[in-house]
Amino acid sequence: MPKPGELTFVAPRGAKPPRHLADLSPAERKEAVAELGEQPFRAKQLSNHYFGRMSNDPASWTDIPAASREKLTESLLPELMSVVRHVSCDDDTTRKTLWKLFDGTLVESVLMRYPDRVTMCISSQAGCGMNCPFCATGQAGLTRNLSTAEIVEQIAAGMRALKGGEIPGGEARLSNVVFMGMGEPLANYNRVLAAIRRLTDPAPDGFGLSQRGITVSTVGLVPAMNRLADEGLSCRLALSLHAPDDELRDELVPVNTRWKVAEVLDAAWNYAEKSGRRISIEYALIKDINDQAWRADLLGRLIKNHRVHVNLIPLNPTPGSKWTASRPEDEREFVRRLQAHGVPTTVRDTRGQEIDGACGQLAAAG
Ligand code: SAH
Repeated sequence: MPKPGELTFVAPRGAKPPRHLADLSPAERKEAVAELGEQPFRAKQLSNHYFGRMSNDPASWTDIPAASREKLTESLLPELMSVVRHVSCDDDTTRKTLWKLFDGTLVESVLMRYPDRVTMCISSQAGCGMNCPFCATGQAGLTRNLSTAEIVEQIAAGMRALKGGEIPGGEARLSNVVFMGMGEPLANYNRVLAAIRRLTDPAPDGFGLSQRGITVSTVGLVPAMNRLADEGLSCRLALSLHAPDDELRDELVPVNTRWKVAEVLDAAWNYAEKSGRRISIEYALIKDINDQAWRADLLGRLIKNHRVHVNLIPLNPTPGSKWTASRPEDEREFVRRLQAHGVPTTVRDTRGQEIDGACGQLAAAG
């Protein structure tokens, strides 16, 4: 909330986020720099600082003359988002950040530090248009797509926090990124893809993260899944299946009325083949809704003998929801049946539940 007397800028509806270095490919950066009347090599210098050194403090970029620095910063490094608040748990190794974007829109990201890796869960849209009834983000609908740089900046901020020792455990590097925050990444395809390029292009063009450490999670937009398969990426694809039969999936993941279970699985196998990566099937276990033994068997039969792994997620109930997580014995039986079909299955760690940092709860509380 603004303090009394504080001016808040509200952008006109439909206004676009300002252009930022992270929106641009290396060639576009050169053009942008030249348009400002600067030498093209300044593009590389900027990239070196922003991507290579993860610095967002132009005052320290002393290889660029002050006057140029000011001009370049003003037009290529606008402040895209500000921290509304951080909320931490797990001895501060899980940190959720609520961001306010230029138009007042709120989005969230979560950083999770484990002994052997650091994962960030980021948002690709403000809100979501997919309307899954168990997901808090789905309830409010879609506000807008995030720009490439708004996606990248969530990561950049996390990387800077890790580098600056803000997260307990000493300096660390980010290893994994999951598009499992707010939004449907494949409904914001071009910007998400460009963000993946910025994250994974070798420094100084990008941050040089491994594509293998990046997971794109989707409700199952079949044409976009097929398009992604042809990009030649080695990112992981997670498919939010949640039910093995069309009757129930039509309800839990409404886009299923457009692309059925069989079609969505075919698109997943196509991605697995082209990328060489196992598909991760996401399945939120909801008590007495989708956790019956027969559904585990049906799921097992559908996916066995494919390059796949099942990630069961105990439902994280949204406020006011009639649904809750499965009983422990039903969860165990579900796992057992999938494993009996030879399907590798794990139950997801539910880190961050106490800070509403768990699945689908991001930014709902504002
Ligand atoms: N739109 C994308 C990514 C966002 S959500 C997608 O649907 O895949 C990431 C995962 O969390 C999805 O599998 C989603 O279905 C799941 N999820 C959402 N709300 C949840 C909840 N309340 N409990 C458990 N999982 C949830």
